[in-house]
Amino acid sequence: MPIRLYNTLTQKVEDFVPADGKTVRMYVCGPTVYNFAHIGNLRTFTFQDILRRWLRARQLDTLHVMNITDVDDKIIRSAVQRQISIGDYTRPFEDAFLEDMATLRFQRPEKLVRATEHIDEMVTLIQALTEKGMTYESDGSIYYRIAKFPEYGKLSHNDFSGMIAGARVDVDEYEKENARDFVLWKQKKDGEPSWDTPIGDGRPGWHIECSAMAMRYLGETLDIHAGGIDLTFPHHENEIAQSEAVTGKPFARFWIHAEHLIVEGQKMSKSLGNYYTLRDVIEMGYQAEAVRYLLASVPYRNKLNFTFDGLKAATTSIGRLRNFELRLKTDKFAAGTNEDAEKRSADSLARFEEAMDDDLNTASALGIVFEYIRETNTAMDSGAFLAGNTPAALQFLSRFDEVFDVLKPSAAESGLSDSEIDALAAERNAAKKARNFARADAIRAELLEMGIVLEDTKEGTRWKRKA
Ligand code: AMP
Ligand code: ZN
Repeated sequence: MPIRLYNTLTQKVEDFVPADGKTVRMYVCGPTVYNFAHIGNLRTFTFQDILRRWLRARQLDTLHVMNITDVDDKIIRSAVQRQISIGDYTRPFEDAFLEDMATLRFQRPEKLVRATEHIDEMVTLIQALTEKGMTYESDGSIYYRIAKFPEYGKLSHNDFSGMIAGARVDVDEYEKENARDFVLWKQKKDGEPSWDTPIGDGRPGWHIECSAMAMRYLGETLDIHAGGIDLTFPHHENEIAQSEAVTGKPFARFWIHAEHLIVEGQKMSKSLGNYYTLRDVIEMGYQAEAVRYLLASVPYRNKLNFTFDGLKAATTSIGRLRNFELRLKTDKFAAGTNEDAEKRSADSLARFEEAMDDDLNTASALGIVFEYIRETNTAMDSGAFLAGNTPAALQFLSRFDEVFDVLKPSAAESGLSDSEIDALAAERNAAKKARNFARADAIRAELLEMGIVLEDTKEGTRWKRKA
């Protein structure tokens, strides 16, 4: 049975098979690096990680591209205000995002690409749109003429036919009520960064970035395009208009959108000020795994109501999972294999996989895992779980952890403080200098065991905690 996913385009749950039967060509809209990501953003990225992992668990390859939006209205405004280049402004936030990804144990997409490094592709795409008669110029900026793309609205399921033709919008983000011809290329403004190109001195609009980068790496038709639900309109609608007007082919076969993380009934967002970053939550003493667990535990099409009680419950759940794993690995069970216990492992695994195949129903999948743990603990207590039953039980747990990835404690729990790690790193350097390579290697291995990676650079040895 193939995986089933809800496709925003058709508004149906459909069987998903990549076009070539093997490799999923997937594009996800990445972060706008004008600030730290908040855990609402990270909910969407957690969903993308779960999606990626489950596709791979089901023996598919992934060619997964995530962009980094490192030029847009907000970034320019902030960089100009601080009188630094947009690169200097965005790079620390990009680094922070990559760190958050590692902390939350996200698998790295095959490609992470920056918008500012794909200006040529954007210009070429705008030129192709112009050749097709889809654009017009006004005050030195270039706009997309929506009236020439009759399918406009097919993703967000809106009828825009009554729209005022020729009305324009310059900002990247706007509501459905303000659907207008949107900007592809903005004329340079004094004091703002710009690129001098054959279509003028200026900078790209946000929407063209993703069309250009997605097609550059994944071709004209992607298997999956994903993002948060708020991107459906206008961003993804505009991406379709830009790409399909040029290629005449469907831009993406599946459009998959994650619902919002909310706080007290409202979407978590920078503008409302009701947000926490991952760093905030970790500083409060919560484990990164608990955040990952909480963000993954609600199926992506449901709103996720964020509370600290929810985080505490996630911490408790992880404790139960780890205790169960420890018991499996350390208890001395009597010899033999109990048939019922064996059947329970096989059935639970099959049900778990079925739940994940069913549009990534993580809540149901977790329900199956905890029911299994409860019943298996009871069986262990009564002697109805034997040594021969452990491999199948461990296999089920490892299938679970392939996707959820919360069993291994993070380095932060290894008990070593930063200064203790510094001391060990210094001791290793001293050992290396004394040509005691065995000792140096032993320290490196010992640290690695605790999830701490040493990196030798020109400036000396650095270390980081591995997620
Ligand atoms: P941005 O960095 O603003 O471009 O947003 C990155 C991703 O986070 C996008 O896919 C947004 O749709 C998503 N997003 C923003 N706010 C939330 C939220 N409260 N819950 C879930 N996803 C969100
Ligand atoms: Zn995008």
